[in-house]
Amino acid sequence: MPLVTMRQLLDEAAKGGYGVGAFNVNNMEQIQSIMEAARETKSPVIIQASRGARSYSQDRFLYHLMIAATEVYPEIPVALHLDHGNSPETCKSAIEMGFTSVMMDGSLMPDGKTPSTYEYNVKATREVVEMAHAKGVTVEGEIGVLGGIEDGHGAGVDALAHVTDPAQAAEFARATGIDALAIAIGTSHGAYKFTRKPTGDILKMDVLIEIHRQLPATHLVMHGSSSVPKDLQDIINQYGGKLRPTWGVPVEEIQLGIRNGVRKINVDTDNRLAITGAIRKVFAEKPEEFDPRSYLKPAREAMKKVVAQRMTQFGQAGHAGDYAPLSLQEMAARYR
Ligand SMILES: [Zn+2]
Repeated sequence: MPLVTMRQLLDEAAKGGYGVGAFNVNNMEQIQSIMEAARETKSPVIIQASRGARSYSQDRFLYHLMIAATEVYPEIPVALHLDHGNSPETCKSAIEMGFTSVMMDGSLMPDGKTPSTYEYNVKATREVVEMAHAKGVTVEGEIGVLGGIEDGHGAGVDALAHVTDPAQAAEFARATGIDALAIAIGTSHGAYKFTRKPTGDILKMDVLIEIHRQLPATHLVMHGSSSVPKDLQDIINQYGGKLRPTWGVPVEEIQLGIRNGVRKINVDTDNRLAITGAIRKVFAEKPEEFDPRSYLKPAREAMKKVVAQRMTQFGQAGHAGDYAPLSLQEMAARYR
C-alpha cells in the first residue's frame, strides 16, 4: 500500500486503545529493521526522519528507500513523518518531498535551540496546519520544552524547566488545529534522560493525565521515550564502550500514557544502542573481519529485536490489517 498519513494511524490506534511507535531512521538498514519487525508482529508503524537524517541521507535517498519499503512490505501501513521541523519552510520542503506527516516544533525558535513565545508557536504551527491539511498531510505540534539535545536540536534545558501547562495545551490545540500534540513531562532526548529510575517527581505522568482530561480528542505524543535498557548499555560497555549509568522511560510508564491518550511514542536511542552494541561485539570478537555486512547484519537484527519488542509492548502488534489506507486527497477532503 502507499505511504499512509499519521492521522489515520493514530485515529485507528485511538479506536483500538493502543500506541504506535515512531522510530527514527537515517539509512537503509534501520528502515529494513523496522519493516521486518512490523511484518513479524503485524504492526502499523511510523518511520520518522529528523533534519539531521534528511541531510545525512540527502533526503531523496531516504524518500526512495521509504517507497521501496512500501513495495517490499505492501501489507504494512507506514507513515513517513518529519521529526522536529524547525520552521514552516522545513515542513514545506518535507511535504513537497512526499512526507505524509510533519512536526512543526514551534516550542523553539527556528534555530532549534531558543525557547519561543506561546504567540510565535501558535502562529508558526497554524501556518503549517493550513498548508499541510490542504494536502491531507498530518501535523504534530509541541507545547512545553523537552530536555536534552539530539541531532543538534534542543534547548539543552533541564527537563523540568518547561513542563507543559495543561490549560495552555488545550488552548494551543484549539488555536492551531493540530492532529497530534507533543508534550513536555520531564523526558529528554538522547541517552541521558534520568540519573535514577524515574518516579513521579521527575517524570510527570500526572500532568499527562490532566492534559488528556482537558483534551480527550487530541492524540498525545511522548518524545524522548526510549527505555534505555541496562542490557543494551551493558553490551556496549562490555565491548569497550564508555556509557555512563543512565535511566530511560520505563515501558510501564509508557503503557500508563497509552491508557491516557498517548498514541505516538518516539524511540530512537534504544535502537542506536542496539546497533552500536552489535557492531562493537563483532569488532571485539572478530577483529579479522572487514566486510561491512559482517557487522551490519547483526546490527540490523539487534535493532529489529528492540523494535518488535516495543511494538508488542505498545499494543500496535496485530493491527496492520485492520484498515485500508486513505489517500492524501481523501484526508484533505476530510479536513475541508
Ligand atoms: Zn523529540
